[in-house]
Amino acid sequence: MKIKNALLLTLFTVFNVTGQKTPETPVNIILMIGDGMGLSQITAGMYSNGNKTALEEFEYIGLSKTHSSENLVTDSAASGTAFACGKKTMNGVLGMDINNNKLSSILEICKSRGYLTGLISTSSIVHATPASFYANVRSRHQYEDIALQLSENNIDYFIGGGEKHFKKRNDKYFIRNKIITLNAAYGSKLYSNKLGFFFNNEMDDFLYDGRKPQLDEALLATLDKFDQREKPFFIMVEGSQIDWGGHANEIDYITSEFKDFDGAISVAVNYVNANPNTLLIVTADHETGGLAITFGKTKAYTFKSDFNTGGHSATMVPVFSYGTCAKKFSGIYENTAIFDKMLETVERK
Ligand code: MG
Ligand code: ZN
Repeated sequence: MKIKNALLLTLFTVFNVTGQKTPETPVNIILMIGDGMGLSQITAGMYSNGNKTALEEFEYIGLSKTHSSENLVTDSAASGTAFACGKKTMNGVLGMDINNNKLSSILEICKSRGYLTGLISTSSIVHATPASFYANVRSRHQYEDIALQLSENNIDYFIGGGEKHFKKRNDKYFIRNKIITLNAAYGSKLYSNKLGFFFNNEMDDFLYDGRKPQLDEALLATLDKFDQREKPFFIMVEGSQIDWGGHANEIDYITSEFKDFDGAISVAVNYVNANPNTLLIVTADHETGGLAITFGKTKAYTFKSDFNTGGHSATMVPVFSYGTCAKKFSGIYENTAIFDKMLETVERK
């Protein structure tokens, strides 16, 4: 009798009377990082796009303090580690704290809870931002070690550049090196739980020189793949080259890369609207270039801009959130709190 009651209780916990999933259903997480995407980059991208951005859809907005353990001006390794692993560390370090202890990332924690995992980046997949979710190394420049750690990690899908770091790989991934076939391959009956795709060229390609595919297509194809598997997922999507436009002090480079990223944000917003049990976060690891818009006209939204540096700056960056648990992300907090809030969401606290 007791066993029977326990069984009924279990069934009741899993399904409510209408057969809907209960609040215990794991939350999908889509974390989108515009590398070097400060408010001025967003503003420039918005005006260049006729005064529109998908970010206007978002419900909650916060501000993140980006400094690393020692420097007010962070790099992408320390800031990536902060939101991937929840600890401030030194510039250049990936997935380790200030005492070189290895840290677990939110991606790995999700994986251990039965999530599917994915990484999409418009830089090399071994570059600092994506690597902070799977690698533990003293220096972000240890590309061979990072590539090996990606092979050893159980990431289900990745899309990015950096094929040269994987020439001798010996692992489970089914690799397509021409991402142009992405949709065909993802949609085909050819089934593999581990898929990796490299962009059609090395990632020094500018978008406006014809980089394929665009980030929205890459995200859409990956979300379709996740949906076929019917499991919760964690995915990180990086608009990597907004940062490179900032380093180059080239406003057209920034706005074209922002447009690419903004297209992927639209895809993610639509996904959350159709799948409300999803948390979408869009943020940046830091600002790059000390960009300011110094003159402009509302007619056709043309403007002039200026840069303060060829490096990063210490300004706080915005955090936009949408969907389940989005409210947690309003306010002003350290970048490490983004990890804490994602973990709370995964643990349903
Ligand atoms: Mg990056
Ligand atoms: Zn940078």
